[in-house]
This record gives sequence, structure tokens and C-alpha cells, in this order.
Amino acid sequence: MMCSAPLIVSPSTDERRPPGHDSRAHARVKLTEIFLSIQGEADSVGWPTVFVRLTGCPLRCQYCDTAYAFHGGEWHSIDDVLQRVEAFQTPHVCVTGGEPLAQKGCLELLRRLCDAGHRVSLETSGALDVANVDPRVVRVVDVKTPGSGEVARNRYENLRLLRAQEQAKFVICSRADFEWARDLVRTERLHERCMVLFSPSHEQVEPGDLAQWILDERLPVRLQVQLHKFLWGNTPGR
Ligand code: SF4
Repeated sequence: MMCSAPLIVSPSTDERRPPGHDSRAHARVKLTEIFLSIQGEADSVGWPTVFVRLTGCPLRCQYCDTAYAFHGGEWHSIDDVLQRVEAFQTPHVCVTGGEPLAQKGCLELLRRLCDAGHRVSLETSGALDVANVDPRVVRVVDVKTPGSGEVARNRYENLRLLRAQEQAKFVICSRADFEWARDLVRTERLHERCMVLFSPSHEQVEPGDLAQWILDERLPVRLQVQLHKFLWGNTPGR
């Protein structure tokens, strides 16, 4: 479901408020879409989930399947986003992008979703600081492999912040990517800190090959495939 009704908020509104005025109710985010689907990835795979897709991303991974979220979008107040989420009557909410943390209002959105009682996850590229994300949020942090074309953007200190129920996710584009990721997992002992997910890049690595590589190496990681692509193909808003 595409999000269509814009809410117009002047960028200067908050700047005009007197010191001490609670401006949080006026925070806003730029949205590409809000929709209900089945979570296709990560630890909460399979749950009916409301996806809140924020607009914009400073990265350009070669396999990106959400390039439609790079530009456009519409500004919405966080109050409005919360109302739209509530309408789906679904406890699981995933804030995604694009790169959601590239927007100033994202942290406030995450906090307000938690306050409203949702089980909130955040999908992030791993290129921006995740330290200030509300601790009630489950952070799913990408680690960009060399095959992504964006390995230089990894903010490795993020990985040291992850807790047991949180996840580091690698999209594997080749055997060389697998070996790079394997070495990082072992060197950093990532699996002792958080859940580690390996996912085959669509049409670049066969899921069965990646499964066998993981087994051959006795690697303590979870294989995942993108369930939503099996269900609906590469359809935006599903
Ligand atoms: S970080 Fe995510 S949204 Fe941004 S280019 Fe990479 S895959 Fe696409």
C-alpha cells in the first residue's frame, strides 16, 4: 500500500518554538510508503508486520531492490505515521528504507512506536551510528561485503553495540564475499555477541550453495532467504 496523504509541516516550525517547548509532537519524517506484509527477513521472519519505509539512502549497493526509495517521498508528522500504523492493528513494526537513520526524525519515530507498545525493529545499512537508537528497538545492522560495492561505508563500531537478540546481516554476492564475511565473523567473534544472518544475493548466489558453504565451514550463522520474494517476487509495497 502506497502512502499518499501528505502532511505539510514547515521546516522552520520547530526553530520558532520557545526554549523548553516540547517539539517532539511536531517531529516529522519523509516517507516512501507504509504497508502491511509478511516479514521476509531476520529473526522476526514470517510475522505479519507493518513496514514504515523512510525515503533516502546515502549508499548505492549494487543489489539494491529499493532504489525507488532513494528519492521522492512525502513529509509526514510522526503523529500521522503512528495513526497510520495503528490502523493496521498489528504489533510488529519494521522501520526500513532506504537508510532510515539518515533522517533526523527517525530516532523519535522509533521511540514513539515503542511507547505505543509495538515490537519495533530497525533495518539499517550499518553505515550510520546506531548507538542512540531506543534500547527497546531490535537493530538489524547490515554489514556491507566487498561485492555490495559499499564495503568502505561499514561502521564496524556498530557491531560492538549489538545485543544477543539483535542481528548482523550479510548479503553474500559470491564465494569471495562468503570468505570475507566468514573471516570477519570469526575474527570479531560476532556470533557470541548477536545473531549473525547470511543471505544470498538474489540471482548472484544460489541459496543451496550458500547453505553448503556454511555447513562445510561449520559456521555459527543463520541462513536466510527473502521469504517475501518467494511469496510475491520483487514487488514494491509487498
Ligand atoms: S543500504 Fe539498503 S537501501 Fe541503501 S543502497 Fe544499500 S541496499 Fe539499497
